[in-house]
Parts: sequence; structure tokens; C-alpha cells
Amino acid sequence: MSALPFVPASCGQAATDRIEVYSGASLDASVYACPQHTDEVSLMVMAGGLNPHSVRMSPDITRRCGHVYVYPTGTFGGER
Ligand SMILES: [Zn+2]
Repeated sequence: MSALPFVPASCGQAATDRIEVYSGASLDASVYACPQHTDEVSLMVMAGGLNPHSVRMSPDITRRCGHVYVYPTGTFGGER
């Protein structure tokens, strides 16, 4: 369940980058983005008061642009 303070673009293209979303020192989520949306996602993350860190995806991982993974132990997950 995504509880991020923003909704990333989801154009459905194959993602090439994984944007890690940090709040402070905690890795809270990963957002997958295609080349057209990596900048947009990074800006959204920053607008939400969080820190983006873009990572090139491994070629054997397939995700669509806009896919979000929220770490259950992070700020936006349900677990503490
Ligand atoms: Zn896209």
C-alpha cells in the first residue's frame, strides 16, 4: 500500500532507473521511472520534503514506470 506524499507519473514504459526515496537516513521507498520521468519523479520527491537518489536498474529487472515499492519498515510503511 503506497502512502507516499506524492503520486509518480505512471506512463507504463519500461523503467530504467530506480529512484530511492529517503527521509533523513531512512530508505523509505523506491520509485521506478523511465528516462522521460526520472527528473519529474526526483522533483516530486524533493517537493515532498524527501531526498531522491537515482540508481541505474539492473538489466534483468523489469518494472514499469510509476511502480512504487514502499519499504514496510520505513516512514511510510505500516510497521515500526
Ligand atoms: Zn515514464
